[in-house]
Amino acid sequence: MQPVIYLAFVDDWEVRGNGSGDPRVLQFEPMRKLVKIFNKHGIRGSSNAEVMQQLVHRNQQERFPELKPIADEWEQVVMESFRQGHDIQLHLHPQWSDAGYQGHGNWKLAGDWSILNYPTPQIRAMLASGKQYLETLLRKIDPGYACVSFRAGSWCAAPSDSLLPILGELGFVFDMSIVAGVRYDTPHVNLDYTRCQEPFVPYYPDMRDARRVSSSPQPVVCIPTNTFPGLRVGLAHAALRKVIRTLTKGNTVTIAAASRGRSADEWTNKGESSAVGVARKLLKRCTVGWTEISDLAQMNYAMMSRMLVHIRKQAARSGLARIPVILENHTKDIYDFSDIERFVADVAHSPDVKTATLTEIAHGLRNGTFSARTA
Ligand SMILES: [Zn+2]
Repeated sequence: MQPVIYLAFVDDWEVRGNGSGDPRVLQFEPMRKLVKIFNKHGIRGSSNAEVMQQLVHRNQQERFPELKPIADEWEQVVMESFRQGHDIQLHLHPQWSDAGYQGHGNWKLAGDWSILNYPTPQIRAMLASGKQYLETLLRKIDPGYACVSFRAGSWCAAPSDSLLPILGELGFVFDMSIVAGVRYDTPHVNLDYTRCQEPFVPYYPDMRDARRVSSSPQPVVCIPTNTFPGLRVGLAHAALRKVIRTLTKGNTVTIAAASRGRSADEWTNKGESSAVGVARKLLKRCTVGWTEISDLAQMNYAMMSRMLVHIRKQAARSGLARIPVILENHTKDIYDFSDIERFVADVAHSPDVKTATLTEIAHGLRNGTFSARTA
């Protein structure tokens, strides 16, 4: 039996991790464009709205009046897309917990990037206030709205004694922070998901280590964000695109560059930023291979198609009749919407692929449409 895939087009909606970049350029404008594409093809997407940034803007708007129009437009864009049937769920970047405004749209974020490094009461407070903020905002449109899913900033979700129990306590249905196969050791983030026990289907996690599958049902389900094996030929393309992007950035006027912000070396693992480091990384990728996160903003159409082939293969192997699959995207990194639109059109015409919002997936987990596995 050919399983039915329920694909969730999910976007992490935020500015750069260091707080740089104009929200109008990185968030508002591209979300409107993306929603237009989804509407045109009859698909409903989901955004994981990074709420800490918004809460900080609201807290500081009295002192710095220029922040108020940004916070207002943030709410407008979120409400506009929600009103059109798209879902909004929770994403948190805790580095905003210690944010200093320096004027002219510049921020200094001093908080730790991983929610796991905060004391338990603070983890609970951040999650509860983020959830409450979204529910207060969106229940104005749909009184039945609930914040039911979570993706941790910078994927930091395991291991932790407190994160999953708190999510369960607060009524979250599932977490999608696990990206099986990746490892980061950067100045801000240290995580190792190279030995996750379930890379594809929903599962009940070990409540203290979401990388592991529990032997019994738990209060929260984990659905991994999809990953697939990187292709060696794809490497040349991706590397070339990065070089071109770097060169182009250097040539654009300062204002445009500033409005997109700079991510610096945030996602470069230690020892991989020098020329020798880059060469070593490329060699490793050619020999051992690597894991690609299903992040549409980082892919061309050919890669998206290859990703879907891999999803179909894994779905067929799972033995399940219906499987939710979570994709990633970042409006801040989309330079060209045409590849995404081509892929969205393909999905809209695929008989074995339906699309689902995160809320629909949560309902499906609750009513038995989707099942979560145990060890
Ligand atoms: Zn994020």
